[in-house]
Amino acid sequence: MAALSVDSLRKAYGDSEVVAGLSFAVQPGTCFGLLGPNGAGKTTTLRLCLGLTAPDAGRITLGGHAIPQDAQAARARAGVVPQFDNLDPDFTCAENLLVFGRYFGLPDAEIRARIPQLLEFASLSGKADARIATLSGGMKRRLTLARALVANPDIVFLDEPTTGLDPQARHLIWERLKQLKAAGKTLILTTHFMDEAERLCDTLIVVDHGRKIAEGSPRELIATHIEPQVVEVFDESCGRLPGFVENHRQLAERVEASGETAFFYCRDAAPLLAALADEDGLRYMHRAANLEDVFIKLTGRELRD
Ligand code: ADP
Repeated sequence: MAALSVDSLRKAYGDSEVVAGLSFAVQPGTCFGLLGPNGAGKTTTLRLCLGLTAPDAGRITLGGHAIPQDAQAARARAGVVPQFDNLDPDFTCAENLLVFGRYFGLPDAEIRARIPQLLEFASLSGKADARIATLSGGMKRRLTLARALVANPDIVFLDEPTTGLDPQARHLIWERLKQLKAAGKTLILTTHFMDEAERLCDTLIVVDHGRKIAEGSPRELIATHIEPQVVEVFDESCGRLPGFVENHRQLAERVEASGETAFFYCRDAAPLLAALADEDGLRYMHRAANLEDVFIKLTGRELRD
């Protein structure tokens, strides 16, 4: 049985259909990614799955419970890391865990017994009595993650868990999420970071305008949607890039220009690299295609605010 299944889900706000017939299933013990540009409907989908927003149509089953009818029972087995930290600033780290555990109906003694282990998981062992205001952004995120685990959930929803964190703090969160998966938990993750999705997700869907536009493992998506090699060519203000692109576009399967950079997507980059070796004033980088290339191809390069 899927840990979460969503079938033909729809939700509109006014005239705008934010979730427009979305279907997917998440297998237990896997990490599932929900990717899409700003406004694609990711947060709304998470809220619908948790029974926090009522759908207009469609079926959702979370941990065997129908949502929204049986949302309370389903939420008892789910942890949530919201996009913005909502720790209680008046309480210490330990108190935040205690208060949150009470929402789940856990006896104080049981929560107190778990607090050291939760703080250790968050790498905050020395911070039990520290006030929230004294924590860094990374510490707050880790405490929010620990808080989501207070009732030992089967499934954890994470809405952009590393947005705003520095690289070290992101790596630590990734390590912890891998540990949770290794412990058999199901993770549902939204993220803007393609490297994060590529690292963590077993399966993901790309959503735009409330519709699923691609689905698969990161590797499958790269193999299906994109040429395997990418050469990024940068103009070092010599003005030769447009001419170079014009004369060499046949050496790539596809070329995209973005500002001062041209992206050549190639099955075999060798002829293009040979041509670049003779060019002065153009810098370039040759790399393997990644999930970000897939994402940009599917959702376009225009800004979404
Ligand atoms: P994402 O998480 O992919 O950025 P959201 O699900 O937050 O997207 O939002 C999708 C769209 O729905 C946005 O245009 C947003 O403004 C709109 N929206 C979200 N929640 C509400 C709401 N409660 N009322 C009206 N519009 C909303």
